[in-house]
Amino acid sequence: MKQFKAESKRLLDLMINSIYTNKEIFLRELISNASDAIDKVYYNSLTDKKIKVNKKDLCIKLSIDKDNRLLTISDNGIGMDKDELENNLGMIAKSGSLQFKEENVDKKDINIIGQFGVGFYSSFMVADNVDVISKKYGSDKAYKWSSKGADGYNISECEKEEYGTTITIKIKQDSDDYNYSDFLDSYNIESLVKKYSDYIRYPIKMNVTRRELKKGLKDEYEDVVKEETLNSMIPLWKKDKKKIKNEEYNSFYQSKFYDYQNPLRVIHSSVEGLCSYKSLLFIPSHAPYDYYSKEYEKGLSLYANGVLIMDKCSDLLPDYFGFVKGIVDSDDLSLNISREILQQDRQLKLIASNVEKKIKSELESMLKDERDKYEEFYKEFGMQLKFGIYNDYGMHKDELKDLILFHSSKDDKLVTLKEYVSNMKKDDENIYYACGETISKIDMIPQVEKVKDKGYNILYLTEYIDEFVIKTLSEYDGKKFVNVCENNVDLDTDEEKESLKKTNEENKDMLSSMKEILNGEVTDVRFTHRLKNHPVCLVSEGPVSIEMQKVINAMPNDENINAKIILEINDSHPIAEKLKELYKNNSDEFKNYTKILYSQSRLIEGLSIENPTEISNLICELLSK
Ligand code: ADP
Repeated sequence: MKQFKAESKRLLDLMINSIYTNKEIFLRELISNASDAIDKVYYNSLTDKKIKVNKKDLCIKLSIDKDNRLLTISDNGIGMDKDELENNLGMIAKSGSLQFKEENVDKKDINIIGQFGVGFYSSFMVADNVDVISKKYGSDKAYKWSSKGADGYNISECEKEEYGTTITIKIKQDSDDYNYSDFLDSYNIESLVKKYSDYIRYPIKMNVTRRELKKGLKDEYEDVVKEETLNSMIPLWKKDKKKIKNEEYNSFYQSKFYDYQNPLRVIHSSVEGLCSYKSLLFIPSHAPYDYYSKEYEKGLSLYANGVLIMDKCSDLLPDYFGFVKGIVDSDDLSLNISREILQQDRQLKLIASNVEKKIKSELESMLKDERDKYEEFYKEFGMQLKFGIYNDYGMHKDELKDLILFHSSKDDKLVTLKEYVSNMKKDDENIYYACGETISKIDMIPQVEKVKDKGYNILYLTEYIDEFVIKTLSEYDGKKFVNVCENNVDLDTDEEKESLKKTNEENKDMLSSMKEILNGEVTDVRFTHRLKNHPVCLVSEGPVSIEMQKVINAMPNDENINAKIILEINDSHPIAEKLKELYKNNSDEFKNYTKILYSQSRLIEGLSIENPTEISNLICELLSK
C-alpha cells in the first residue's frame, strides 16, 4: 500500500472526521470533475483530428446499488493513466500552497474544506471506501485506484472497456449524527443533482423509477425504471438572468471556485456588438488565503461557444481586479487557439476592456448604493486597489482613485477622496493626512492635534502602502496632499509667523547648540506653533517622510534611507522656558534635557532610540532629584 503525502493525509483525516454539515457537496465535486474530464476530451477532439468522440455520447452516469451501499459516478472523459492516478489522487493538486494552520483544523474545518480545491477528497466525508477505475483516452490499459482513507491507497492494473473514469463509493453506515443512506436514495440524488449541478453541460443520467399509467389502462399504475437526464444542461451564464435564483448563482460559484462562502456580488452580463460574449463574474466576499501571495493566479475561465478553452485566462483581468472570479463565453473566439495567439487576439482585448469597465462600474455603484457592502469588500480587497494605483508608475491611478477609502478624522469613518474634497471649505487648498499604525496612534501624534484644532479634516493612513499611494496620486481634484507631520504644513497667520520667526531668531544660539548636542541626527532644531499640548515633535523635510523611511528600511534589502528630520519644540509649553533657563545656567543639565526630548520625539514617531539605557538613566536621574 502506498502512503499519501503528509499534507494530503492530514486533509483526508479532516474529511473523514469532518463534522461539516454540507457533506452532500461531495456529489457536485465528483460530477464537476467528471464534466471537466469530458471537456478535456471534447476539446482535444476539436483541435486534434486523431481524437474522435461522438458528442452525442458524452455523458455522466450515476447508479445506485442499495444492497451493497454503493454509489457510482462514471464518465467518458479523458481518463487517467497510472501516473495521473498517482499524482492527481495521491496528493492534493495544490499541495505546494497548502499552508495548514493547525489551530483551524478542529474548529473551522469548513474554512479549510472551502479554501482548497479538495474536490475529490470530499468523497471521504461519506465513504468507507473509494474505488477509481480509469482508462486514459488512447491507452489500452486501465488501472484501479483504491483507498479506505488516511492509511493509504493501492493502484493495480484492471480491465475497463471504454476510456473514462468510474468512481465507486461505498457509503458509510448511518450514525446517530448523520443519515448516510440518503445518498443511496435516488430521489435524493436527483434533487442534489438539480440543486448543485443543473448547469453541467453534459447529461447526467440515472435510472429512476417513475410511477406510470399501465399501457392501455385508465387508472392502473406501475413502477417503470427509466434512464433519465437529471440536469437541464444549460450553462448558468446562458440562462435568462431573470429566471436564475440567487441560490443557483451561489452554488455555481461555490463549486466552481472552491469557496465556502457566497460571493459578495454577482455580475451577469450579455454583450452584443463588435464582439459578443456572455460573462458571469463574481466578487468574492473574502480574500482567498493566498490572495496576497505569489501563489495566487488571477484569471477568468474562457469558453468559446460553451467549450472551455482556458481555465484561468489572466489577460482578461487587470491585476488590480485580480480578485474577480468568473467565466467569459464568446461565440466569436476560435476554438483552435493557443496561449500566444490569445494574447494578441483583438476580440479578447475588446472583451478584457469591457470586463474591466463593467467591474469598475459595479464597484462604483456598490460604493454609491450599498456602502456597507462596499466597505466589506474594501476590507478584503482595498489593498489590491491601492497597489493598482501605485504600481506601473501610477498608470492606472485615475481609474482607481475614486474607489479607495481612508479614515477621516472629522467624520470618524471611511471616506472617499471625493467626499473629503466636497466637504472642504472653499479656500482650502490642501488635503491633510497623517500616517501611523492605528487610528488611535495617529490621534496621539502631536501635530495631528493642532491641525484638527484648527478645524481641518485629516485622512488617517494606517496601511504601509497608503503614503506611497498618496505620493503617486500627488493631488486630487486640484488639491494637494499634505502630510501634517511634514515641514511645509503652514497654518499660521502672518502675525503668528512673524512672532515665531522672532522667537527662533532670539534663541538661535541655544537651538544650534541643541543641534550640536544631537550630533548630526537632525537637520535642524527650532520652535514651532505646530503643537498644542505636546512638548516636542519631529517633522520631515524633502520627499521622504518619516513613515516612508520606516517602510523602506523594513524591506529586506541593503538600502537604507533617512528622512531629513527636524526637532521642533512647542514654544508655548513650559519646557521652552525651562530650556532657555538651563542654557544660560546649567550646560550639563541642558545637554541631558536635549537628549531626553529628542528621544521622546523619536518614540512618539514610532522610531527606535539608539541608546535606550543612557536615556532611561538620564530620566531616572531627573526623577530622583
Ligand atoms: P481539482 O478538481 O481541484 O483539480 P480534485 O482533487 O477534485 O481537485 O481532482 C484532482 C485531479 O484529478 C483533477 O485535477 C483531475 O486532473 C483528476 N481527476 C479527478 N477526477 C477525474 C475524472 N473523473 N476524470 C479524469 N481526471 C480526474
